[in-house]
Amino acid sequence: MAVIVQKFGGTSVGTIDRIKSVAERVARARDAGDQVVVVASAMSGETNRLLSLGRELTMRPDGRELDALVATGEQVSVALLAIALGARGVPARSFLAHQVRLRTDSGFTKARIKGIDADVLLSALNEGVVPVVAGFQGVDDRGNTTTLGRGGSDTTAVAIAAALGHGVACEIYTDVEGVYTADPNVCKNARKVGRISYEEMLELASLGAKVLQIRSVELAMKYAVPVHVRSSFTEAPGTWVVGEDESLESVVVAGVTSDRSEAKVTIRMMPDEPGRAAGLFEALADARISVDMIIQNPSAHASPGRPGVTDMTFTLAKGDLEHAQSIAARLCSGLQVDVDHDVVKVSIVGLGMRSHAGVAARMFRLLADEGINIQAISTSEIKISCLIHAKYGELAVRSLHDGFGLGD
Ligand code: ASP
Ligand code: MG
Repeated sequence: MAVIVQKFGGTSVGTIDRIKSVAERVARARDAGDQVVVVASAMSGETNRLLSLGRELTMRPDGRELDALVATGEQVSVALLAIALGARGVPARSFLAHQVRLRTDSGFTKARIKGIDADVLLSALNEGVVPVVAGFQGVDDRGNTTTLGRGGSDTTAVAIAAALGHGVACEIYTDVEGVYTADPNVCKNARKVGRISYEEMLELASLGAKVLQIRSVELAMKYAVPVHVRSSFTEAPGTWVVGEDESLESVVVAGVTSDRSEAKVTIRMMPDEPGRAAGLFEALADARISVDMIIQNPSAHASPGRPGVTDMTFTLAKGDLEHAQSIAARLCSGLQVDVDHDVVKVSIVGLGMRSHAGVAARMFRLLADEGINIQAISTSEIKISCLIHAKYGELAVRSLHDGFGLGD
């Protein structure tokens, strides 16, 4: 008899009918002999609704109170789900974070998990009761309610699987059928990936693929929790996110993504001398602004004894742009600061890149063949990203997807 964690996202518990189908699915898993721990998100739209209520009062609600507010969404869905299971003849009990002692730090709205009391869950299971745990929420050392950041129920589910013991799998039920080689709305021939490694999934998640919260993948990798991303509307198997040695498809490129959430900033003719980049990026970091791609061009106009000048380009979240511009204006007064919103970052990800030469060259050629100019490039061991004009985003994704043979 296996213990499994089944996590249901907002759309899966979005209506009373859907809650009934979730109860049905849990009952089936139980009939098949599994011991199921359920984790649920708030009903779809609820977290946003609660957040906007708070923001109607003030643009910057207090973090502690915001968490107390949004955590109620999950309280509703777990109670409804436990009622639905009971009505279906399956003994079930809802649990909030403090009841399973899901302890976090006090970083309101983005708290980190410190530990979970698996005993509470195990004794419910031993009594034959299905525990239904509220996702997204935690409790800090002083008993305050915290939340784990948007999409945090994924992380709750993985953390519970890890706490329940080695090999406990975590099924993430969502409104897509799994992880695809590219966004099926952009590439009609995108394929569902059967297995993918934690490393690849982490890259894809950080590049804007919204299937799993990044922290849930980090946690799954750390504790070797097998994660099965699948649809709550079908029985079809989805995508397994597993360790590198188990991710059979050691393809060169596993997937193509695009991300329109960043903007590009260029500071022209910055003096090319020690400490300039440090000063700028320290100030951005102090303002908690994360920078993604950074390019510094070769120094121009240098002569003996006199530093040259250089253009410094970087990308960051569009939401941080205004703040970053004011910092750049303060630190680089008198210099020209250019901003470009019309950019998209297209990326290819795959473990096989580590051992194959020429992947970057192939990517650049495929873009060139479409007449697409590359404005910035960044790489990791298993990822190559190119920043291009936003209007070419979909074309680039399609040509990379086909060019690397990912389609059907
Ligand atoms: N309800 C939370 C959110 O909307 C957590 C989650 O759904 O995972 O972000
Ligand atoms: Mg989610």
